[in-house]
Amino acid sequence: MSSLANNYRRRKISFRKGKGSFLYSTKGIKYLDFIQGIAVNSLGHSNNYLNKALHGQSKKVWHVSNAFEIPEGERLAKRLTKNTFADYVIFQNSGAEATELAIKVARKFFYTKKKPHKNRILCVKNSFHGRTLAAIHASGSKKMTEGFGPKIPGFDHFIFGNHRSLRKSITKKTAAIMVEPILGEGGIKVIPKWCLKGLRKLCDQKKILLICDEVQCGIGRSGKFFAFEYSGIKPDIVPIAKGIGGGFPLGAVLMNKKVATGMTPGTHGSTFGGNPLAMRIGNAVLDKIMKKKFLKNIQKISKYFLNELNKIKNDHPDIIKEIRGLGLLIGIQLFNDQAKFIKKLEKNKLLTIKAADNVIRILPPLNVKKAEIDISIKIIRKVCKEYK
Ligand SMILES: *Cc1c(COP(=O)(O)O)cnc(C)c1O
Repeated sequence: MSSLANNYRRRKISFRKGKGSFLYSTKGIKYLDFIQGIAVNSLGHSNNYLNKALHGQSKKVWHVSNAFEIPEGERLAKRLTKNTFADYVIFQNSGAEATELAIKVARKFFYTKKKPHKNRILCVKNSFHGRTLAAIHASGSKKMTEGFGPKIPGFDHFIFGNHRSLRKSITKKTAAIMVEPILGEGGIKVIPKWCLKGLRKLCDQKKILLICDEVQCGIGRSGKFFAFEYSGIKPDIVPIAKGIGGGFPLGAVLMNKKVATGMTPGTHGSTFGGNPLAMRIGNAVLDKIMKKKFLKNIQKISKYFLNELNKIKNDHPDIIKEIRGLGLLIGIQLFNDQAKFIKKLEKNKLLTIKAADNVIRILPPLNVKKAEIDISIKIIRKVCKEYK
């Protein structure tokens, strides 16, 4: 009997090792891993370059307190701001911590502007921002909040794609709108370019802040460094995590100069956030992902992948409802429950994971090879053919 609490529905597979796009189980089976720790291992398993960075830093210094300067963190923040909308960064360890800090930054901004009543955050109903107490109430999902005590106040919700519901939900107390440019857990729903543009405009008109949660869709996953870049807008605050650590726990909040003014000494802190080991690895991940060619290549291979998936959809219009997503954040939406299909893919040695809305989520490493995409296409086609 396991001593682990029962909060996960775990598959009965464990792994001996991983390399690139592949995982090797303890039973000797080789799987094509198109989950990659849920969009975390951006450069695949056991990447040589990241290994070198990890081992190199491990012999120097792992952890020092934020009571001291941390040069690797200075460098990572400098690179994140130089290449994006942001002027400042605060490092965290996970996605939920990052989204919560994004909320804190937004509220503190209005507090310092002598408008403390502006503290409510408007979010998409049934979105996903993490599992801490505030984050589950930001997500507004009954399933995630039920049984966990009093509702954390300060969150309002609007229905995805419903502009009337959005406008109606903005009040004098609204501080910020927080959205995932691509809903990950919510079923790989992409917010259209013109909608994100409209959101930015709306926020400007109402003098409120725009938070883009790029924890899942950021750091190259969409084919651009940030998914919101497709629309040409600039958010005020962006929480990130998952892909930036390449498998090492690392989160951060990026923000513009305007909102950063509230974050004075003592207003926020984290024991582990921004430690030298995490910072060294974050820098190594950026070495690879920030190359223009690297991102262009994600777009190219994504186009190929989506095209091939749409061919399968056209051959099986009774099984597949829609292929959607951007870059290498891809969803196959079925007409029916997807669990059985995922199980069959697994039997054929392709690992995928579900999202809401009957969606099978496909998350290859960002340096996936065309030949590996072809293997997955073959398996998905085979499962469609045998599927009844
Ligand atoms: C995964 C995720 C989070 C939470 O990240 P954790 O590291 O699990 O806390 C927050 N927002 C989005 C969009 C995510 O996909």
